[in-house]
Amino acid sequence: MTPRALSIAASLMLAGPVAACAHAQPASPQAATGPAIAAPSPRKADNFVATPVDPAVTALQERALHDDTAYGIVAGLTTEVGPRMDGSEAEARARDWAVPRLKSLGFSNVHVEAFTLPVWQRGTESAAVVSPYPQALRIAGLGNSAPTPVGGLTLPLVYFASLNDMLLAAPGSLKGKIVFVSNAMQPTQDGSGYGSAGKVRFDGPSEASIRGAAAIIIRSVGTDHGRGPHTGVTDFAPGVVPIPAAALSVADAENLERMVLLGKPVMLHLDLDDHQIGMRTSGNVVAEVPGTDPNAGVILIGGHLDSWDLGTGAIDDGAGIAITTAAAKLMMTGGPHRRTIRVVWFGDEETGGFGGLAYARAHGTEPHALAAESDLGADRVWRFGTKLPEDAKPVADRLAAALAPLGVVRGRGVVDGGTDVEPMLALGVAGVDLNQSALRYFDYHHTPEDTLDRIDPEQMRQNVAAWATLLAVVADAPEALTGNRH
Ligand SMILES: [Zn+2]
Repeated sequence: MTPRALSIAASLMLAGPVAACAHAQPASPQAATGPAIAAPSPRKADNFVATPVDPAVTALQERALHDDTAYGIVAGLTTEVGPRMDGSEAEARARDWAVPRLKSLGFSNVHVEAFTLPVWQRGTESAAVVSPYPQALRIAGLGNSAPTPVGGLTLPLVYFASLNDMLLAAPGSLKGKIVFVSNAMQPTQDGSGYGSAGKVRFDGPSEASIRGAAAIIIRSVGTDHGRGPHTGVTDFAPGVVPIPAAALSVADAENLERMVLLGKPVMLHLDLDDHQIGMRTSGNVVAEVPGTDPNAGVILIGGHLDSWDLGTGAIDDGAGIAITTAAAKLMMTGGPHRRTIRVVWFGDEETGGFGGLAYARAHGTEPHALAAESDLGADRVWRFGTKLPEDAKPVADRLAAALAPLGVVRGRGVVDGGTDVEPMLALGVAGVDLNQSALRYFDYHHTPEDTLDRIDPEQMRQNVAAWATLLAVVADAPEALTGNRH
């Protein structure tokens, strides 16, 4: 998931306690004086729905809870392909792996839609405290980092406890220094901590360059305390000279912070052989469960096929493509359905969302009913949100009723969709978010620990059941989901 998506997620409200209060609040008589205030309606909360659930939806949900297709996909992808950086030879192998797999699962119109993008490549990377307490540090370069000069940089370290502290440094004041910004991140169920704590990665290197720094190292944007650094993309603002930029593992950042606080000047060596290598090819893998009514609009779902290189891309985002694909496959039985379900394994999400943009460029004028993606791991779905036209509200009510047995509550607020489908939502297409618990996601996100064993098969099945429920509710819905805006 991208910073933009999560900063939007941060604005969402929790649904549960709101509903509980609505019931507990007795209607109070209007005061003799003062403004007229309507008494709260005990049943107005959206969580209280009396909508019956279609038995076919319940049956599908039950099948999904015993279906391991998703786990099989992510196991195959991480074992037979492994890490797959966007624009790399490995990502091309992933597409070659995907096409026959999707065909064998029974999908129609399976094909690759190629696009080009600028590619950054990691080389050898190292960092060490030279003095006063010499020892190696575990780091990973950030996507778009500049290389250090050959032989590396050995320079004094300047420490900031937070990004805000660094932003207060005057332009030019960091010249000849390697900046170190510490910045702890707290786990949250909705993952919104990534939006705020992540700023140090998204914006820190650019801001350090503006202030004259020779290089920057940051505490990893992660909620673990391990030695695996969290990589991820950084963006240098237009006109800003890229500088070497890397993330320290959380354990190493805490160690370095302790050294700094002992009061002696710290000298650091940093060596990054990372480079922009020009334009390369990536591609979106597309597969469909054909519907009967082309005018009803496509239901677009999926996740991203590319991954960072440190782990094997299991939770980010092998899980997302596996979950949505397994749910779509479940819809092949009992069909055909009114709407075409299109599953897309997006190329490049991690370094700029080029896959989602390429999809919107190619398909933006086709009728779409709905777009949704899975890109926050494989832990259980706990909340859903909808961006639907007012006259499609009964669809949201049916969805609330159908998802309730899975322990999924109804959220309110902005639906962002995520990086891959965001360009379609921006065109006016309706969206649904199925929010997964992110309480442990950022322990492993973008680290060497993003491997298959982080996925709990039981929670993954609950995800598939939630997605299958969504598809079952919307595939034949008589309401116009996107309306005439698209
Ligand atoms: Zn992702």
